[in-house]
Amino acid sequence: MSRKIIAAGNWKMNKTAKEAVEFVNALKERVADADSEVVVGVPFVCLPGVIEAAKGSNIKVAAQNMHWEEKGAFTGEVSGPMLADLGVDYVIIGHSERRQYFGETDETVNKKVHAAFKYGLKPIVCVGESLTQREQGVTAELVRYQVKIALLGLSAEQVKDVVIAYEPIWAIGTGKTATSEQAEEVCAIIRGCIKELYGSEVAEVIRIQYGGSVNAANASELFNMPDIDGGLVGGASLKLDDFEKIAKYNK
Ligand code: PEP
Repeated sequence: MSRKIIAAGNWKMNKTAKEAVEFVNALKERVADADSEVVVGVPFVCLPGVIEAAKGSNIKVAAQNMHWEEKGAFTGEVSGPMLADLGVDYVIIGHSERRQYFGETDETVNKKVHAAFKYGLKPIVCVGESLTQREQGVTAELVRYQVKIALLGLSAEQVKDVVIAYEPIWAIGTGKTATSEQAEEVCAIIRGCIKELYGSEVAEVIRIQYGGSVNAANASELFNMPDIDGGLVGGASLKLDDFEKIAKYNK
């Protein structure tokens, strides 16, 4: 069973709407022959321009967050129907920065994942341990727990369409990449957990990315590990040359 590698950029709070369109216009030529699925996760205000710029190309577009309710008194939030109406493909859910700075929990992640499916968006669900948790030896238990709660109540068919991003917090934005063996070990644990919960067919299909200081030099080794199906890329996704190389990790 071959899973399509997914190279997803997470721009975080970077680039204006104009800069975003310029970037995607340049990127689309460069990745036209990429074998990976290329995704850009952009700030909300960049979505309309980026979706327009990406039309007719092989670039898919992700939002970086969503609320689980359809509408209502939630100042500053953006809902699933709003994203779906724009033509957004993916939504990043439960990034560690959202858990750390905006109080997101495994339970809110689960609500958002359900809302994503309700409105036809594909969730990229982030999980991962802190340095302390790794040193305490609880990485496997923690990540299994995060995955289990994030997916609670989904059907097996829905789980096939989830992308899980394993992102050790100690490797995000630090330049400290997990070794390919460390990343593979946890991605394999996640796949094992999916197998226990949803069966082998789902476990073979679901894509599990690694994220944490992925760059042009290490993407190929990481993405070629048996249980790693691509990367969620922060810093390096903001640079055209680097993100092109990551998307074309096998060329
Ligand atoms: C991220 O934002 O999800 C991430 C992994 O960032 P970086 O690649 O910069 O470590």
